[in-house]
This record gives sequence, structure tokens and C-alpha cells, in this order.
Amino acid sequence: MIAKVTRDELTKRKRLESRHPKEEQVVREIIQSVREQGDSALYRLTEQFDGVRLSALQVTPEEIDDAWSQVEEDFVQALKEAAERIRSYHEKQKRNSWFEPAEDGTILGQLVRPLTRVGVYVPGGKAAYPSTVLMNVIPAFVAGVPEIVMVTPPLPDGTVYAPTLVAAYIAGVHTVYKVGGAQAIAALAYGTETIKQVDKIVGPGNIYVALAKQAVYGQVDIDSIAGPSDVTVIADEKANPAYVAADLLAQAEHDPLASAILLTPSSRLAEQVVVELKRQLDSLERKEIAARSLRDRGAICITQDLNEAFAIANQIAPEHLELLIESPWDWIHQVKNAGAVFLGQYSPEAVGDYFAGPNHVLPTEGTARFFSGLGVDSFVKRVSVVAYSREALFRDGPKVMTLAHAEGLGAHAASISIRLETGKVGEWD
Ligand code: NAD
Repeated sequence: MIAKVTRDELTKRKRLESRHPKEEQVVREIIQSVREQGDSALYRLTEQFDGVRLSALQVTPEEIDDAWSQVEEDFVQALKEAAERIRSYHEKQKRNSWFEPAEDGTILGQLVRPLTRVGVYVPGGKAAYPSTVLMNVIPAFVAGVPEIVMVTPPLPDGTVYAPTLVAAYIAGVHTVYKVGGAQAIAALAYGTETIKQVDKIVGPGNIYVALAKQAVYGQVDIDSIAGPSDVTVIADEKANPAYVAADLLAQAEHDPLASAILLTPSSRLAEQVVVELKRQLDSLERKEIAARSLRDRGAICITQDLNEAFAIANQIAPEHLELLIESPWDWIHQVKNAGAVFLGQYSPEAVGDYFAGPNHVLPTEGTARFFSGLGVDSFVKRVSVVAYSREALFRDGPKVMTLAHAEGLGAHAASISIRLETGKVGEWD
């Protein structure tokens, strides 16, 4: 049901194969037709892949009203509270522009500016997760992006899944378009008659969406391409095995390729967790998915001690790291590579997935070694500011000229010397 593995077996696991030549060709053709035919390609491809002939791409205010009438009040309330938590957490990530004057009159600084237009992809049908809407939109909203558009494939009756529309409204989306797949990504990247080009595309999707995002990167920015989700749980001998098992299963139910790993110095706890996994699995709706994930991608590794458990976790660089150990704050300094860390027995990953406030779009497949999760920084640019004074230019100019000449860039040097020679910079002085 779940393999016991050694440290070497665990840390030398191969990354998933990610070549998709057939789908890459399909995506190239779709992008080309959207670039050449604009909206008419979007209508045609939507009919072909989603089986619906649309009369308009943009969701109307009446459709949004209709969506509100279809959702339950407790769902709306939970979504609103989650949105508020996520907003207030992301507010703390905001950075201000800064300017630093020096004694010679020079001012150096940095402007922080939001992107102008952002596109959020939201998967359609059964994979439509309102929490994903909140997590992708709210950081852009907090960053001050003035135009946030959402694209999502229509249902067979031409409408959009109501909880997705309600979540979009709560999160602060300005416009929603009914288009999905690679054609939606192409429309956002290049623009059509109806959909304006954006600066960045974020949000998860199937293989066609992921490959299209990779293909348009450079034309626009994208978030990272999410692989299957993963969790690593570090638990000591006093951890509650039922909690450990529940948290491993919460990850495993995502996807047969999701990976749930337990690191513990206690072989007794490991045995108890296996018993609990078997017991809890039976009552899960998604037990087949969870069982396959545990069997193919799950692992339990008995470590010498907690120090070794942390060393292995840092090698894995998990998307989610749970510390089900006594005094987890005493160990936080050992955490080097993880998308998010959850401390103590009352912080199951699910509270972070939905409600606590931090973003749930996190680096997967070991990329937490060098990537961070989605946040306000993902939606701003830094513009550096240089305002030299006359005194500073006369002092530093000769050194700048030396460096310019060393690189053979005479015009660079001349743009300095012309100022030093005339002594007077302009009519303003
Ligand atoms: P989707 O919206 O990603 O894809 C649907 C679109 O794919 C269709 O509209 C169509 O345009 C296109 N498509 C389908 N078959 C095609 C074909 N043969 N050729 C060309 N285009 C085709 O929805 P989905 O397919 O249900 O997939 C959703 C994905 O999003 C899943 O992989 C799910 O795991 C992932 N997801 C991830 C998260 C996360 O937070 N990481 C959240 C939600 C969903």
C-alpha cells in the first residue's frame, strides 16, 4: 500500500517524464490559428473541444447574477471569509517604492509598479476549483493590477460553472471570457478582437494549457508550470498516527501522480500510520486515486533522528512540509527548501489550501530549491531609479569612462566626457 524506502531511494527518485510531442504539435497549430483568425478561431475551437457554439465570449452581468442564485449561502460565506484571509496575508507582502538620497545630492531608488493586465486561467468542468480562483486572483488584485481577466472553458450548455463565477466576483476579476485550452492562452498572449493581450498568464490547467503557457512564455510572462502536488510529513514518536495518515491521504487524493511522504525516526509510529492509512482509505470518496498515489508515489522513510529527517526534506524540497513534532518552532531554522511549512498538529495542509491566508500555488517537483509560491511579487515589476548630481558625475565620470573604454564602447565614454568637458550640463544649471 505504501513502500518503506531508504534515504537514497527517496532522494534519487526520478522526476516525471515530461515530453509530449503529439500534444505540442496540436498546441502549436491552435496558437497559430488564434494568431491568424482571432475570435473566429476561438468560436470554432470552442465548438470543437467543448462541444458548444457560443454567441458571445464575454460573460454578461445577467450570467453573473444567475450564478449567485445557484450557490449556497454557507459556500458564499466561507468563500468570502477565505478571500478576506488571503487578502490580508498578501497585503503584508506588498513592497513600497523607495528613494535614498546621498550626501552628494544623488538619489537612487526603486519604483514598484503593478503589471497592467493579467490573465487567469481557471480549468473547466470537474476540475473547477473556486479556491484556485481566489489564490490566483487576489495577489494580483493586492498588487494593484488594474485589469484582471479570467478565462475558463464553458460547460456544454454554454454557461460557466456557477461557483467559479461567484469566486471570480469575490476575488475581484474584472472580466470573464468563456474560452479554455490552448486557444484561451493564445488569445491572452496575442490578443483577439474581443480579448486584449495581457502581460502575464497564471493558473493551472491540463496538458494543452500547460504546453501553451510554455509556448507563449517570452511573449508574456507566466507563473511556473505546476506538476503533481506533494507533501512531506516529518513526525516524531509522539505524533498522532491518525492525523499523519489523514494528511498523507489528503495529498494522495489529488491525483495518482501526487506524492505523500512520511519521514520519521520512529518505526513504531510508521507501523501505526500504515494501519491508519488502511483504515481511513476505505471511507474516502476518492479512495482509488488515493490508493494508487500511495502505492506508486508514496513512501515512508525511517530516519536516524529528526536532524536526518530535516536533511532529507531539504533534499526533496517539498511543495508542502508538515512538522508533526513536539516543539516544531525549535526546528524551523532547519527548514531550507519548501513551498510552505505547516507547524504542529493543528495545522493540517488543508487549512493552508483553503483558508489560512498564504497562497496555495506553490513550487512542485523539487523546484522549491529555487522557486517561491505565487504572491504579490509575481504581479509587480521593479524599476530602478538613478538621479545623479553634478558633483557625483564629476567624481565618478572618469571611472565610468575607464570601464566603457575597456569594453570598447566609445560612445558610452563620450556621453560622460561631453558633460565633464563643457562643465555645464544644460540651461537648467
Ligand atoms: P482544462 O480547463 O485544463 O482543459 C479543458 C480544455 O482543454 C478544453 O476546453 C479544450 O480546449 C482543451 N482540450 C481538451 N482536449 C483537447 C484535445 N484533444 N486537443 C486540444 N485541446 C483539448 O480542464 P481539465 O481538462 O479538466 O483539466 C484540469 C487540470 O487542471 C487537471 O490536470 C487538474 O489536475 C488541474 N488543476 C490543478 C489545480 C492546481 O491547483 N494545481 C487546480 C485545479 C485543477
